[in-house]
Amino acid sequence: MVINMEATVKLEISDAEWEVMRIVWTLGESNSRQITEILADKMGWKSATVKTLLGRLVKKQALTTRKDGNAFIYTPLVAEQDAMDSATRALFGHLCQMKVGQTLADLIDDLTLSKANIADLQAQLAEKAKTAPETVACDCLPDGCDVMKQEA
Ligand SMILES: [Zn+2]
Repeated sequence: MVINMEATVKLEISDAEWEVMRIVWTLGESNSRQITEILADKMGWKSATVKTLLGRLVKKQALTTRKDGNAFIYTPLVAEQDAMDSATRALFGHLCQMKVGQTLADLIDDLTLSKANIADLQAQLAEKAKTAPETVACDCLPDGCDVMKQEA
């Protein structure tokens, strides 16, 4: 399977398209019938909806398709981890740099993490603490969020 790393950087997919991608990433090569059955089960979607989403994902070059008898086979063109990293980076890129730490802490509070995940995070944080700045400044305005604080 050829994974197109370049495409992941600009991949912008909707919430519904994510659901389709998760199926194809998990199954690898999958045919339209499988994908349609799983999404009917999991999301209650009609086959026309799934067909539309698959078409969009092919157009966005997230999936490639080929005909096999009378079925269509779909294969991911972007790697799952790359797409997840790129989506979370894009999201956090929109946030105030001063507030990302708290936002991340809130997020961690809500997530289900394994003991191994937590051990990795602890090691990563211990390493990051060595070079971390005392504070992170707001980057929302040219002069920072201090203006807002003084007014409050
Ligand atoms: Zn800010």
